[in-house]
Amino acid sequence: MKQKIIKTKAKEIFTKTNLPGADYVINQYVGCSHGCTYCYAKFISRWKGYGNWGTWIEAKINAPDLVRGRKISGKVFMSSVSDAYQPAEKELKLTRKVLENLDKNTDLSILTKSDLVLRDLDLLKQFKNIEVGFTINSFQGKDQQLFEPNSPENIKRVEAMKKLKKSGIRTYAFVSPIIPDVFDLDKVMKDTKDHADFYWFEFINLKGAGEEFKEILKSNYPESSKIIQNKDMLNLYNENIKSEIYKSDIKIRGIETH
Ligand code: SF4
Repeated sequence: MKQKIIKTKAKEIFTKTNLPGADYVINQYVGCSHGCTYCYAKFISRWKGYGNWGTWIEAKINAPDLVRGRKISGKVFMSSVSDAYQPAEKELKLTRKVLENLDKNTDLSILTKSDLVLRDLDLLKQFKNIEVGFTINSFQGKDQQLFEPNSPENIKRVEAMKKLKKSGIRTYAFVSPIIPDVFDLDKVMKDTKDHADFYWFEFINLKGAGEEFKEILKSNYPESSKIIQNKDMLNLYNENIKSEIYKSDIKIRGIETH
């Protein structure tokens, strides 16, 4: 897919955050060519003016310089409005350079949808307190095309998680987005149980996903669309899934609803 890469320079790279489980975020990229149709960060496209979400990325080329020599106390999350291992990273190696220069005592949490993270295993191993998470869901085939058109398949993410865990890296599954009548908890558990040290869960952020996403559901998953439009049905669905999650024999770090 054709994408615009805009090279920029930032003044600061660690940003304070209210995201659960993190104190700072680091976004060496803004924008994401994985182009997930439910992505809550899509709103950024409106004020950047480069085009639709998924067609452009900004690369903060001085990010590696900005992390050099910095001691950050608190948890740093990479990344919140991009995927550090989206396709452009293969050539640009911006994430790799950031990891090279980042203080290895940093309490770092990386979340990705890409097995490209395996390339940096040598660096990941140098961090004293690191965890690598993969967004995992049960999408495949048509679901994947509709919701995550340019991301590596779930099976690749699970394989990468397995390899990292085997290499001694703490891993987690970020199970998201949980969409009524589409999400398959049993499949996710079966795929990840042996490879994830802990779990985060997130129900679909309907506000962030926006009207376009709701239209996708309406046209392709009418039952799901019916549930999300009815508050009582949606609450019931969410409560049932939560109780199923709590029955699972796993470590749960958090369950996010919006
Ligand atoms: S991988 Fe993450 S940041 Fe990128 S488009 Fe998908 S949800 Fe958004």
